[in-house]
Amino acid sequence: MLIIPNNPSLKSWITVNKDSDFPIQNLPFGIFKTDGLKPRTGVAIGDYVLDLAAVSKLGYFNDLRFDTQVFSKPFLNDFIALGQPVWRAVRQRVSDLLNAANAELRDNSNAQKKVLLALKDVQMMMPVKVGDYTDFYSSIDHATNMGKMLRDPANALLPNWKYIPVGYHGRASSIVVSGANFRRPKGQQKPAGVETPVFGPTKLLDIELETAFIIGKPTQLGESVTTSQAGDHIFGMVLFNDWSARDIQSWEYVPLGPFLAKNFVSVISPWVVTLDALEPYRVEGYKQEPEVFPYLQYTGKKNIDINLEVFIESKGTQAFKICSSNYKYMYWTMEQQLAHHTVNGCNINVGDLMASGTISGPDEGSFGSMMELTWRGTKPIQLPDGSERKFINDGDTVIVKGFAQKNGVRIGFGECKSTVIAATL
Ligand code: MN
Repeated sequence: MLIIPNNPSLKSWITVNKDSDFPIQNLPFGIFKTDGLKPRTGVAIGDYVLDLAAVSKLGYFNDLRFDTQVFSKPFLNDFIALGQPVWRAVRQRVSDLLNAANAELRDNSNAQKKVLLALKDVQMMMPVKVGDYTDFYSSIDHATNMGKMLRDPANALLPNWKYIPVGYHGRASSIVVSGANFRRPKGQQKPAGVETPVFGPTKLLDIELETAFIIGKPTQLGESVTTSQAGDHIFGMVLFNDWSARDIQSWEYVPLGPFLAKNFVSVISPWVVTLDALEPYRVEGYKQEPEVFPYLQYTGKKNIDINLEVFIESKGTQAFKICSSNYKYMYWTMEQQLAHHTVNGCNINVGDLMASGTISGPDEGSFGSMMELTWRGTKPIQLPDGSERKFINDGDTVIVKGFAQKNGVRIGFGECKSTVIAATL
C-alpha cells in the first residue's frame, strides 16, 4: 500500500518558505524549458524545479519500471497515460528524494546541480496537450447573480440548474499558459437601445475565476463513469481564467450558447496539483435540493477548501486584490461533472480539460467576474492609482492565485497571469 506524501510533519532538505505554494506535501507536475534544455517534466519544490528527465537519467527511478522517456516529452500526456499507480509511485519517490531524512540527493551536490533549477530561471510551458475542453457553470452564487442581472431577479436560476451540471463544449486551441499577452478581441455587439449590431473591439472584456481538472484515465465510447469512479479519472487541477467578452456574448449566445465571446483565449496555471495533494482539504458540499438523479448522487466529502484570489495590476501600480473566493462554493462537484459528462456514453481522453465555470461565493467580495463585482458596471472598482474599472482595460494584467491551507501546510497553485493589449485597428 502506497503512502500518499501529504503528512504535515514531512520536511525537505531544500529550504521552503512558509508562504511558498510548493512545500514537499504538494509536488505538482509541470513542463518547463530553458535556453539549454528542451521542454521536459518538472516538479516544483520551494523556489526550485526538480528536473524529472535528469532525475531518471541518474537512475533514481530505475526500481519503478516504466519508460522514463515520458519525462522528456513536451507535454505531460504520455506520463499521465501510464496511469494512477505510476503517478503515485513517482510522486512518492520524489517525496523520498526530497525528504530531509533521505541522504541520496541531500548529500550529493553533484547530482543536485544536475536535477535542480531555480524556478526564476525556467520558462513554464503548457503542462498538457488539451484534446477537448468543457466548461461547466457549477457555482450557484455565480449562476444566481447572472440570472438576477440578465433575466429575472425573482427566478434567477433556470429550471434545469439544480438538476443538471450545466456546461458547454469549448475550444482547446486557444487555451494558453500563464504569462500570455493577448489582444482585445473584436466582434459583433448589439448595445442596448441600438437597432442594428455594431462591429469592433469588445467594450466589456471580463475575467472568469475558475479552476479546471485534467483527465488522467480515458474511457471508451459508450462507457460511463460513476461519481465513485470519477476520482480515478482525474490527474489534477489547475487555475483557469476563462476570458469573456460580455457584449459579444449577449448578442451571439441565443439559441446555441457561448461561441466567439469565450474562445479567443483562456489561461491556465502551469503546475498541475494532484488530487492526492488536495485530499486533506476535502470538505462537505452544499446540500442538494431537490434530490439529484441517482447517477449524480455521491457519498463523502467531495468539495475542496481552496482559497481563490484575483488581482489587477495596471501600468505602474501594485497588484490589487479584487476578489477572494473559494472552490468550496461549488454546488456541483468534479465527480458529478464527470459522471454527467459521460452518462450518455461520451468518451473522455487523457489531457481533456474540464473547467468549473466562474466560482463566486455568497459575499460581494467573493464574486468571480467583473460582471458581478461591479454589478454590470454600475458599481465600479477603485484601483490604488485612483482609476476605476467596470471591466478590464488595455494594459491590465490579471493574476489568479489559489491555495489550500491547513495544519501549517499550504498547497498552492502558483499564478495564472495574463495581460490585455489593445486590439488591432
Ligand atoms: Mn467560463
